[in-house]
Amino acid sequence: MIDVETNGASAVEDFVDALQSEAPAIARIETVAVQPLPVAAGFTSFEIESSQPVSGEFTLISPDVATCTSCLRDISDPLNRRYRYAFTNCTNCGPRYSITRSIPYDRVNTTMERFQMCSACTGEYRDPGDRRFHAEPNACPVCGPRLVIEPDAADASAAAIQALASSRILALKSLGGFQLACNAENAAAVDVLRSRKRRGRKPFAVMMRDLKTAEKFCRLSERECVLLAGPAAPIVLAQFREPRLLPDCIAPGLRELGVMLPYTPLHHLLFSGNFDCLIMTSGNISEEPIVISNKESAEKLSPIADVILMHDRDIFMRVDDSVVRAYEDRPRVLRRARGYAPGAIDLGFDAGQVLACGAELKSTFCMTRANYAILSQHLGDLENFETLQFFEETLANLKHVYRAEPRLIAHDLHPDYMSTQWAARQPLERMPVQHHHAHIASCMAENGLRERVIGVAFDGTGYGTDGQIWGGEFLICDYSGFHRAAHLRYVPLIGGERAIREPYRMAASHLRDAFGESYRSLDLSLWPGAEGRNWDLFDRIFHRTKLMTSSVGRLFDAVSAIAGVCRVNSYEGEAAILLEAAGTEGGASAEPVELSVVTAGFPWVIDTRPLIREIARKSTSGHATSSIADTFHSSIAHMIRTICVRLHEVTGITKVCMSGGSFQNCTLLSRTLPVLRQSGFEIFLHSKVPPNDGGISLGQAVIAATYLKKRRD
Ligand code: ZN
Ligand code: ZN
Ligand code: FE
Repeated sequence: MIDVETNGASAVEDFVDALQSEAPAIARIETVAVQPLPVAAGFTSFEIESSQPVSGEFTLISPDVATCTSCLRDISDPLNRRYRYAFTNCTNCGPRYSITRSIPYDRVNTTMERFQMCSACTGEYRDPGDRRFHAEPNACPVCGPRLVIEPDAADASAAAIQALASSRILALKSLGGFQLACNAENAAAVDVLRSRKRRGRKPFAVMMRDLKTAEKFCRLSERECVLLAGPAAPIVLAQFREPRLLPDCIAPGLRELGVMLPYTPLHHLLFSGNFDCLIMTSGNISEEPIVISNKESAEKLSPIADVILMHDRDIFMRVDDSVVRAYEDRPRVLRRARGYAPGAIDLGFDAGQVLACGAELKSTFCMTRANYAILSQHLGDLENFETLQFFEETLANLKHVYRAEPRLIAHDLHPDYMSTQWAARQPLERMPVQHHHAHIASCMAENGLRERVIGVAFDGTGYGTDGQIWGGEFLICDYSGFHRAAHLRYVPLIGGERAIREPYRMAASHLRDAFGESYRSLDLSLWPGAEGRNWDLFDRIFHRTKLMTSSVGRLFDAVSAIAGVCRVNSYEGEAAILLEAAGTEGGASAEPVELSVVTAGFPWVIDTRPLIREIARKSTSGHATSSIADTFHSSIAHMIRTICVRLHEVTGITKVCMSGGSFQNCTLLSRTLPVLRQSGFEIFLHSKVPPNDGGISLGQAVIAATYLKKRRD
């Protein structure tokens, strides 16, 4: 407390300092404006005026925050009035974005509006010395939301714990949506959840009782511990501790486990049961967005869950769990949602007002407002009506709360994407942006780069300016444009979309390309389908296919299938993820295969055939899959270095941005980064937005904003 009466002007200065130095842990201070006013008579107390909407102005909305240690103490203390109360929160923690319907962020503009604060809660809310001073979602067992369980029970949380303890599947209404849970140490329960959710081999995330428990099951770096226990409380991808103490069916074939800690009082309550680890996965069916309403949960989750734990605080904005990994001691967001969205990214220049509607998989959109890029949370794969609806709802909401009226819409070049078609229906000027240009611009934007860079964009699929499917691209670019400097040699994308689900098709395509007719005599059991028994038929398909791809993702698929690691995917990217996991840990570097480059004019073409021949040789002569994976990773790393060095010779550029889904692969990164740095390059990776297509909208936005700005100037 600062006494203005006795200390005068210096006390006021101290107060201004304290605003910044003593701000709550999660406060984000954008600016402090000081305006001297004459001392008015009659004021004896400190008050926060209720917010007044000002037209054209906007404030940033806070992401949801994990339960703080003080609130955890409250709910664990039998003498506290919030003992075991599932909706405990304070100014340092609790729901924000997920319950905010409008700004200013006052209780009437949240889904807490219907709960009238009791006198005890009102007292806390009004007391500047209280931790709950102006905590808008403040509540207690007397006045706040309540739990209910289906089938009905008097003590809902006790019944939920009982269900988990007896190997049953629980659906629970969490912070940004429903989750499905079961005891992770019980393999039979995990299998039941997997089959009811029809989840293939896709790994589950596990919520652990506390940090100490997480360390028992995983090897955690200091950075990973900080991430896990931080206010965003994301799912952190961490290495299993060997020998493994959890059933293999949680993350089949993988070295990493998605771990998180309890982030709501309700989660903490569940852990008063006798278990350490709970599978905690999104409550949705197939590819649809997560369920948020009680009514929907009965409809959609009752076939999966035995018991449904609900409450009467509505979720306004759906936000799934975020996924983060620590790499080179920095957080790398792979799925940006709860705890991060809709946190804005400062672009460092006035970007005007544009809307970028992203790509298709792992969809997000991005709006610019003054210096800020406001990214939506992860929306899911924009391939069905439900996800499109989620996209539209979220957009309407964010446009409303940020009072945004975009003047230009940026979209992907791909004519078949739902986002492209949606953009075409809007009565606004449109700007198509090439997919890989957007990837690199996104990496530049979050690293504050404006100058021309060498962009390495490696992913599964991106529509090219020639109508082919790109994905192994070296670009020379800035926000104003790009040159395609080099790419992988084209091979036919056999079966189109099916090639993505069935990696053996790409294996056959690459083998046919590398060996010609003689690929028939290779001793590889590649084919689950009919084509393999009919070489002539496959040859005809190979020659007839007009759609070509230069995708690194598809090359990973091909190698994974040739090595016998994965021939058919049960989830997106499985073959590549398993190939990464098959390699030697820690970056032991195998002898790379030299890939020749055709440099007669741009774009240069990187010949993948020698690599495919070597992979096939190793695979048919009984080499271990780890050795095949190592050869592959170091050859790609070596190739990246070769191309960057040669592009540097031509352009003088030393800054390299790496983006695209393939750079989620840490083995590839840890082989590539040292050799690039040795050659004098400065490397920029993603940290705040995903390298996968979840980051595309940011890149589209800065490219479109630059175009608008040029037109203005
Ligand atoms: Zn708190
Ligand atoms: Zn109360
Ligand atoms: Fe991509």
